[in-house]
Amino acid sequence: MWGVLRQETLIDMSERLCYTIVSSSDKLIFDFCLPTITAGSRTIMVQTVAAPDLQFRPFRRERMRCVVAPLLDGTLLTVPIEMICGAADGPRLVVIAGVHGDELEGVRAVQMLSTAIDQHRLSGTVLLIPVANMAAFASRTRRNPLDNIDLNRVFPGRSDGTVSERLAYLIVHTLLANATLVVSLHGLGALGTLMPWMEFADIPGAIGHESHTAALAFGFPDLMPLPPLPGVLISALAQRSIPAIEGEIGGMGMIDPSNWRRYVIGVIQVMRHLRMIPDPPVYVANPRYWELHWVHTPAGGLFERSFALGDHIACGQRLGFILDPFGEQIDNVFAPCDGVAGACQMAASVHPGDPVALVWSPLQSRCIA
Ligand SMILES: [Zn+2]
Repeated sequence: MWGVLRQETLIDMSERLCYTIVSSSDKLIFDFCLPTITAGSRTIMVQTVAAPDLQFRPFRRERMRCVVAPLLDGTLLTVPIEMICGAADGPRLVVIAGVHGDELEGVRAVQMLSTAIDQHRLSGTVLLIPVANMAAFASRTRRNPLDNIDLNRVFPGRSDGTVSERLAYLIVHTLLANATLVVSLHGLGALGTLMPWMEFADIPGAIGHESHTAALAFGFPDLMPLPPLPGVLISALAQRSIPAIEGEIGGMGMIDPSNWRRYVIGVIQVMRHLRMIPDPPVYVANPRYWELHWVHTPAGGLFERSFALGDHIACGQRLGFILDPFGEQIDNVFAPCDGVAGACQMAASVHPGDPVALVWSPLQSRCIA
């Protein structure tokens, strides 16, 4: 850890919090003032912390910015989190969004969960992480522009790595440590959209079972079993005996209420499943299991799409064609299998190799019986 926070709890007449961050040798690194954040009728102060206190305390509600590292421009890269504790200790649910900076429906869902959770009905702790990858969020890109890394390919991270690897390390080793369950909320990026699905860890044993059960509790009927994959959050957490699920919804850089509300409801369903709120859980009765087949364009140009989201797709069906700058058709895109069009790129301009479609095909076999 690069330094410690010395909190000078000065609250002046304008209700601004001031902090000083010093190194372990007491050398001044950074001092600044933060505005308070008003959420509805509540005023919640935000602390910037190098080592966040994540302990349960009855009815605790606290927002923090957890420091990853000082940046080139003298600001701090931080991860905003909110701790919400109920009356009694119990499960610890972590809901994380914004791992990819251009997937915003999950971000909005986490923001709304902050106001939707009633602490007086809550057992245990909900830790909300609305924007995990703040640099990518600020640049409206999937990858972190500071090192051009996809955060969801470098979990569990490295404490001495690039900025994304350090961010991944903080997330896994501090923020998500000791979680009963982690729910990660994604979507398609700014150029496309998709139909909702939920991924779970398709591994034998208790962690795979709990991940699968949590996916059934979330409520999306379309499920994708995820085998162990290097660098992916679900897999990195499974290795640490933490079950996790990862949702996908929406896209186009939008915050469509019909999408983020489904995420809010899904998280509340998971809280029922974990017995964090006193309502009976419900589970998807007839889940459908799929595997994903991304379809990439063989050439750059304008992609004229000939299918719609949700269409049934036949193997070999033409999904669209590519036009060169003169409007000449230079190539085609064909479906690799039978299935359902689960995602599509909406932007017509494509580079060679861009994913332009996703076909869900019925899963033949999976690990969990
Ligand atoms: Zn994503």
